[in-house]
Amino acid sequence: GEELLSVTDLQKHFPIRRGLIQRQVGAVQAVDGLSFSVTRGETLSLVGESGCGKTTTGRLLTRLLEPTAGKIVFEGRDVTHLSGAKMRPLRRDIQMIFQDPYSSLNPRHTVGTIVGAPFKLQNVQTPNGVKKAVQDLLELVGLNPEHYNRYPHEFSGGQRQRIGIARTLALKPKLIVADEPVSALDVSIQAQVINLLEDLQNELDLTYVMIAHDLSVVRHVSDRVAVMYLGKIMEIADRNALYERPMHPYTVALLSAVPIPDTARKGKRERIRLQGDVPSPINPPKGCRFHTRCWKAQDICKTEEPPLAELAPGHQAACHFPENKDKLTIDVTGTAS
Ligand code: SF4
Repeated sequence: GEELLSVTDLQKHFPIRRGLIQRQVGAVQAVDGLSFSVTRGETLSLVGESGCGKTTTGRLLTRLLEPTAGKIVFEGRDVTHLSGAKMRPLRRDIQMIFQDPYSSLNPRHTVGTIVGAPFKLQNVQTPNGVKKAVQDLLELVGLNPEHYNRYPHEFSGGQRQRIGIARTLALKPKLIVADEPVSALDVSIQAQVINLLEDLQNELDLTYVMIAHDLSVVRHVSDRVAVMYLGKIMEIADRNALYERPMHPYTVALLSAVPIPDTARKGKRERIRLQGDVPSPINPPKGCRFHTRCWKAQDICKTEEPPLAELAPGHQAACHFPENKDKLTIDVTGTAS
């Protein structure tokens, strides 16, 4: 497919300042050299524990944050340092869905005002009026269009996330960054909202970057998955390859905590409990950043950082001793097994 977005060596360090003259004493290396691209129409999921930099990455992609270094290219154009008026079209094309539908909707505004706000902000003409446009959007996300004059508190959590999604869709974005869009919701309605996002993707030709803290939520919606740890990508691959032949020990550990629905694989994986906590992104471990928690770590892991390398077609991992590397065999039907 055609490339919609790409980032190269993307970096975001937040300086830590102390004292009267606010001297910089260090930096939180939230995102530390990411390179990946997103194809039009696909869903790429960024997955990792808190502190891995996934949310910062989402904010860099939507240009809510300025990168410290690196490059962001959208539709073939370098948009890394756009500002002011030049930023306006980009603000329409790349939208964000936030995790918490409670705090992202102004409780004093009606749904009509909330969902219609982007039209006003961006000065977009709506042929049949804003009210009609809002009602169409509410219908699109499965809400009653007659409820446009109600307030957020009159809706359930799932409905509020639908309101947030409707607002996101108002300006017909091309790319949507969804930052844990269902993790604040009841498990029982998570699937509904995920299904809605999938339906909208097909209907409106959307591209998603989906941010999640574990691998179970995004399993069915992702085309590709990138696993992040301490500001870096540890592994990135097509969905099936990542879930069935994970190469990075961290991915293996994350997957071992995920219930596996298909009976064929049952019992094949033991739960791997990671030692300790995620180290501080202020002073990330030298060498492989995962070495302090990795059960496979050798001496070289403490000193030499493994590059993110393509170990199978389209499958990259950053590890000196990857798993499943030799298991890739192509049978006569052409399916990898
Ligand atoms: Fe573990 Fe070493 Fe691979 Fe890092 S490089 S994931 S420490 S085996």
